[in-house]
Amino acid sequence: MSAELLDILVVGAGPVGLTLASELNRYGIACRIIDKDPGTKTISKALILHVRTQEVFDAIGAIAAAKSVSVPMRQISLRAYGKIIGHLHAEIADSPYPHPIILGQDRTEHVLEEHLHQLGGRVEWQTEAIAFEQDATQVSVTVRHADGTEEVIRSHYLIACDGAHSMIRKQLGFRFEGGKYEGEQFIQADAKIRWTLPKGISHLFLTREGYMMVIEMPDDLVRVFISLPDHPADATVDEHGASDDAPSLQEVQDALNALGGVDAELYDPTWLARYRTSHRRADRFRDGRIFLAGDAGHIHVPLGGQGMNTGIQDAFNLAWKLAYTVQGKATPDLLDSYNAERVPVAEALLAGTDKSYRIILHPNELKQNAVRLLGPFIVNQQVVRTKLMHTLEEVDISYRDTSPIVEDHGGSGGAGAGDRAPNATIVRLADQETIQLFDAFRGTHWTLLLFTGQKATAETDQKLLSIQQKVSKVYSQLIHSYFVVPDLLPPQGLSGSDSILMDGEHFAHERYGVASACLYLIRPDWYIGFRGGIADRDRLMDYLARILMING
Ligand SMILES: Cc1cc2nc3c(=O)[nH]c(=O)nc-3n(C[C@H](O)[C@H](O)[C@H](O)COP(=O)(O)OP(=O)(O)OC[C@H]3O[C@@H](n4cnc5c(N)ncnc54)[C@H](O)[C@@H]3O)c2cc1C
Repeated sequence: MSAELLDILVVGAGPVGLTLASELNRYGIACRIIDKDPGTKTISKALILHVRTQEVFDAIGAIAAAKSVSVPMRQISLRAYGKIIGHLHAEIADSPYPHPIILGQDRTEHVLEEHLHQLGGRVEWQTEAIAFEQDATQVSVTVRHADGTEEVIRSHYLIACDGAHSMIRKQLGFRFEGGKYEGEQFIQADAKIRWTLPKGISHLFLTREGYMMVIEMPDDLVRVFISLPDHPADATVDEHGASDDAPSLQEVQDALNALGGVDAELYDPTWLARYRTSHRRADRFRDGRIFLAGDAGHIHVPLGGQGMNTGIQDAFNLAWKLAYTVQGKATPDLLDSYNAERVPVAEALLAGTDKSYRIILHPNELKQNAVRLLGPFIVNQQVVRTKLMHTLEEVDISYRDTSPIVEDHGGSGGAGAGDRAPNATIVRLADQETIQLFDAFRGTHWTLLLFTGQKATAETDQKLLSIQQKVSKVYSQLIHSYFVVPDLLPPQGLSGSDSILMDGEHFAHERYGVASACLYLIRPDWYIGFRGGIADRDRLMDYLARILMING
């Protein structure tokens, strides 16, 4: 048995466990991460890093490495039942990372493992968790090393990132509610392609026989992903749903030509797979000192490519809460908000992907005609495109209706408490540097934005200054604050402050819907924790006292 009592043990070094472990290291938390496999995976599985996940990679410090081994996905051409119905421009206006990027899960895991190394952590490969127990003060996990020896690791918290067939979830007795998709199989190939359709964009085909996507990958490869009616198969399926009867390249190519109505040739494949999928969710993500994240908590049909992305965001949500709790900067109640915030996200994801699956994969004649006729009109509606892209890119995930740790008192017409904090280009007065608001959020702190609004007066400036001084006095270690002024010069009353952001172009005021003075408090995970007006100083202080320890 290890003598030391560790802060946190992470089981599973897939993309979710690697994100969590690197975040814990960034916060300076003593953690270990183990995985039963010999190393990161070498297959490309989850291809896409959506916009919100790239913002997470920015926050954790791994975005440059991820971008350097990816290609952007800028446009998707949509064909339904033999007709082109439009083009989707995959772009989120306010993000520094406006397009999803394609790199493959193998590269994502490699980037995350390198990032973990840079932060001083390392994965203990070939180390399998085989049993565990918890009491009021700790969790004890029995692990087996490659040479067969066993060790008991004791920690304050255990995080199960051990994938869809999570031993930990099963032993906790959590339900994994949902079911299998019967009658459908997916075949896919990562390969080079020769065809006449335009390069530089990806292609979605809806046909009577099935659904197909052709996505451009790095190294001149494409991912061909096809759904087909299932044949009675006795193939065994592994823990990720992949079966042992991988298709031949010819089978994928024949299906591609039949569904796409094109003459394409696939060659030099790097991966061929056939799998069946399920949609399931654990009934809760926490039991005492044990938390589930990623596929251990939720799996779904990979139509929008959101499984890994949602799991990485689970880890990002949990990491700062664990760090703040372990470091005594927050009350342990903070940890309850993980379940409250992330279970509804998984629930909505499963409901959304299940609905899309049923609409896309099994349309009757009537629906097919409706898509052919109305599709071009619907796809061209800006409001529809924006909604679709914001959902796919996971920038509209919000905790406003579910979180016990967000508080909204109005004060502006823009994003509310629980929403993703918008980005904007802005000038920092201190050095006249043009920066992104995200630059102000980066770190391990909370960020208080004190907007002076369009009609600032000496009196409103004075009130904002007193709020800022009060917050700094009590929480100077934990909260960075900035005045956001809609001018190129600071107002008289604030001219002595060294934390002024000049919003001369009004980008930030517009994105946050600010007319008159108001407050936005941004959490370390770049979601809005508190919104209020200039009269809400006491409410803000009460809110902070509920969550944070004074100068913890
Ligand atoms: C073919 C395919 C295509 C996909 N496409 C997409 C996509 O386009 N977009 C998307 O977002 N998602 C996609 N997914 C889903 C994505 O791969 C998963 O959501 C992602 O891998 C989940 O990451 P994870 O870290 O939670 O779990 P995993 O990646 O499964 O990692 C779990 C880790 O835990 C380890 N482990 C398990 N048990 C133990 C134990 N007892 N002790 C120690 N270690 C243990 C395993 O070895 C593994 O390394 C796809 C999946 C498949 C199969």
